[in-house]
Amino acid sequence: MAIISINLKDGTLDSGSEVIVGIDLGTTNSLVAYMKDGQAVCVKDDTGKNTLVPSVIHFAENGAVLVGDAAKAKLITDPGNTIYSVKRLMGKSYADLTAVQGFLGYKILDDDKASLVKIRVKDHYYTPIQLSAEILKALKARIEKELQAPVAKAVITVPAYFNDNQRQATRDAGKLAGLDVLRIVNEPTAAALAYGIGLDTTQAEIIAVYDLGGGTFDISILQIQDGIFEVLATNGDTFLGGDDFDSAIVTFFCSQLKIEREILAEDKSLGQEIRLLAELAKKALSRSEKFEGKIGNQTVHITRAEFEAQIAPMVQKTLDCCSGALQDAKLTTDKIDKIVMVGGSTRVPLVHKSVAGYFGKPVFNSLNPDEVVALGAAIQADILAGNQKELLLLDIAPLSLGIETVGGLMDVIIPRNSKVPTKAGRQYTTSVDGQKNLKIAVYQGERDLVENNRKLGEFTLRGIPPMPAGLPKIDIQFIINADGILNVRARELRSGVEQETDIRPTFGITEEEMAAMLLDSISHAQEDMRSRGLLEARNEADHLLQAGVKFLKQNENILTPEEKKETKMLLDALKTAADSSDKDNILQAVEALNSYTAPLAHRAMDQTIQAAMQGKKVS
Ligand code: ADP
Ligand code: MG
Repeated sequence: MAIISINLKDGTLDSGSEVIVGIDLGTTNSLVAYMKDGQAVCVKDDTGKNTLVPSVIHFAENGAVLVGDAAKAKLITDPGNTIYSVKRLMGKSYADLTAVQGFLGYKILDDDKASLVKIRVKDHYYTPIQLSAEILKALKARIEKELQAPVAKAVITVPAYFNDNQRQATRDAGKLAGLDVLRIVNEPTAAALAYGIGLDTTQAEIIAVYDLGGGTFDISILQIQDGIFEVLATNGDTFLGGDDFDSAIVTFFCSQLKIEREILAEDKSLGQEIRLLAELAKKALSRSEKFEGKIGNQTVHITRAEFEAQIAPMVQKTLDCCSGALQDAKLTTDKIDKIVMVGGSTRVPLVHKSVAGYFGKPVFNSLNPDEVVALGAAIQADILAGNQKELLLLDIAPLSLGIETVGGLMDVIIPRNSKVPTKAGRQYTTSVDGQKNLKIAVYQGERDLVENNRKLGEFTLRGIPPMPAGLPKIDIQFIINADGILNVRARELRSGVEQETDIRPTFGITEEEMAAMLLDSISHAQEDMRSRGLLEARNEADHLLQAGVKFLKQNENILTPEEKKETKMLLDALKTAADSSDKDNILQAVEALNSYTAPLAHRAMDQTIQAAMQGKKVS
């Protein structure tokens, strides 16, 4: 289905308008998303299954750079040349790194304490910006493959607590990857947007965004008002996440296997094997009550209750962080209107149960928790692209929607102030014999003449089977969905020929523009009425002129020479009148022709019927 985007500022139409993508550049996983048919979607890999790109980079012997799943596999076989958790290093100096030291498996260059961190891989030194750029390049390649078109603009998300250095570093990484970073958006803001929170600019609310990822936990309290997201407080733990849940299961399995946990530091491959099984077990326990697996020929097992007992203290720690954030914001749990769950680890039942219990209300977790940030980034990108503005989710159609009919008149199909979603339609026909195509031009506005309204788009219903004018029945339906997208369908009912298109009717019109358009329609009402009357008279005249010419031709043998002469004269008079701008004059000429030809038409009809009954062919 074709999507027509309209630049409502200047009314230009461009299908295939430039996409701006949304990117979640995560510590553990990264994703890229975009608006597809009005819906934010994350782009999948070649298998069509995974949307996550592990934030891992591997430098091969031959200089090749691997990113994602392939690089993650190298964490076991070639850890020294495989970089992960780069996000933790973004915008940091060596002096900042005391917390991270000993945590990373790769080498960090250690010279000037005040300068920004560099990472050594073989003989090269890389900045975290360069490494992040590699991840971004992989995401860019993924979306370009999906869209079969170059992508140059992006919105990238960062944690709410990121300082200016870290934000700038993220921007620079984008630039290095060939992306123009239009905006850096806070992850909790993006997550809220993904749920449509904050899109209704009339609503003010306070929300909590609980983000438990692979290695980090963030809680953010946001105040949303007039479409502005203000961070009231953030709290969290930069070393608490799903990896710690895995680690707890590893310890649990080790005791079942009767091996010391310390052994795993030496036997790396056994350690990795148990760790992978532990993550598998954790994910399984998000759905099932128990898990069983094998290490070598030994069986390990864990129930959900056992798992929950292991991680309960960690979950409690996240709730303590929530209390800290609320305290900073000088709020209590009952003041929080909505709680949004983000991060793969919020899939753990104990986590969302505990969070819902803590805040005393159900949480927002219907979307994929590891995709929400990217989805929200795509929505933000779409807003920046001008496809959606403040007026994102309208509950009423602010201006009338209709199509152009003969003579440039606006025929309103959905009147202004109709509740959205809504559906309305009308039937039209052709004005010329044998007409095969019908152009359907969609307009928005209150004026009678389309030229004074805003054109939203047009399309052509093709392939109407040849029929006399007026015979085809063309049904035109306008459907506005909840997102404010107008879908226009045209269908010729006799033949079933059909065509449809999507149009975004309201986005991009500011309140002022809308007010101006409404005011305009009121001040021009009289003028409009006059021109509408004139146009209608002209349409009628045109119609009658065509019919008259046809009548003369078809009834050559029936009419007397005098009648033909008089009819021709009246037709000429009507033609002259129709060219004038005097409505009454036109209507008089219409009347004169009609009254003179009516008895002739009756007589002609009678004779035609008689002829038909005698079996004669009448042309
Ligand atoms: P980040 O924001 O840190 O990049 P993510 O939001 O992608 O991380 O979360 C990754 C974490 O989510 C990993 O620890 C992963 O094991 C965990 N996770 C993913 N799916 C599930 C699941 N079904 N149950 C429990 N944990 C899960
Ligand atoms: Mg994340």
